[in-house]
Amino acid sequence: MKTDSKAKGTWWHRMVIRVFTLVLAVLVFWVLGFFVDDIRSIPGPDYAAIEKIHLDSALVAQSETLAKHIAELTRQIDNQTEQQRIVGDSSRNLQQTINQLLELQKLGLQKSVAFSDTEQANFTTSLNLFLDNQRKYQQLSQTVSDRLERKQGLVREQEQTEQQIEAQRRPAREEYTTLRQRHRLKLAFLQLAILLPILALAAVVIIKQRASIYFPLFLAFGVATLIKSALVAHKYFPSKYFKYILIGGLLLAVTRLLVHFIRMIAFPKTEWLIKQYREAYERFLCPVCDYPIRTGPRRFLFWTRRTVNKAVVPSPQGEQNEAYTCPACGTHLFEECPACHTIRHAMLPHCTHCGAQKDIQ
Ligand SMILES: [Zn+2]
Ligand SMILES: [Zn+2]
Repeated sequence: MKTDSKAKGTWWHRMVIRVFTLVLAVLVFWVLGFFVDDIRSIPGPDYAAIEKIHLDSALVAQSETLAKHIAELTRQIDNQTEQQRIVGDSSRNLQQTINQLLELQKLGLQKSVAFSDTEQANFTTSLNLFLDNQRKYQQLSQTVSDRLERKQGLVREQEQTEQQIEAQRRPAREEYTTLRQRHRLKLAFLQLAILLPILALAAVVIIKQRASIYFPLFLAFGVATLIKSALVAHKYFPSKYFKYILIGGLLLAVTRLLVHFIRMIAFPKTEWLIKQYREAYERFLCPVCDYPIRTGPRRFLFWTRRTVNKAVVPSPQGEQNEAYTCPACGTHLFEECPACHTIRHAMLPHCTHCGAQKDIQ
């Protein structure tokens, strides 16, 4: 067995490595984000263009003309209503004047004072003006009502045209939805086409280079790619599919971990074995079957893993100076060192006397 004591570095070094691993992961995530954003900026279907294909251009033009006519009529109606209001105001004023003149005339008749020529002329002018105004008012009313009628006719016509256009717009909208869906799928496919190979590469490198000193580097790369891929998948695939992808991934990961730990116990690695043997020797127990190693001053004692420290040893533990085999399972626990011919631990890598190394399986 080879001495596999990997240098761990100081606390500070390990901390720096962790921080830079994180920074590297963020940077990789960022770079992947640039790729993904560039793909996302590919323009999708244009609704206006699709609508143009589906709509009858004559109908659209007609609708526009109608709208223009309606607006023009509305403007004219507003103008004439305004004019009508002014004429009405002026009529009311004239009516008041005429009433006053009539009042004066009545007073004059009572006092037998005749209406002067000027007054008579004033009265006639006012009256003519008033009648004129009234006529104008009537005319304006007539035009306004004519135009209102025309406007209503146009509005009805426009509504019908709009209904026809709307009917043509429905397939346009459907086509747009289909095209947009297709475009989204294309974007998702392109993004994953970049991300998934990188992810696969990262996974292979992480598994292959588990023991490499550059492992944190690969890990940062892999984790950043994994998160980005998951985000893209989540964005483009409905959550009902994503749910299965996620749970599938988790199942795989947890199964892999379980298998790893089960295998670790069933086929322990040498360093774990040595740790286990070392602890057993420290408690004077057989590393294989836990039977006490009764030798030297401990020959007549009894102890277990739990009571080993309470057992009172009559005299200090002397050095083991003869080979020893576990009486319970037959494992050699102390044997002669082939290098210095003293007695050494049979299941630990080094001889306590000369340091000679042996392989432990
Ligand atoms: Zn044993
Ligand atoms: Zn030795």
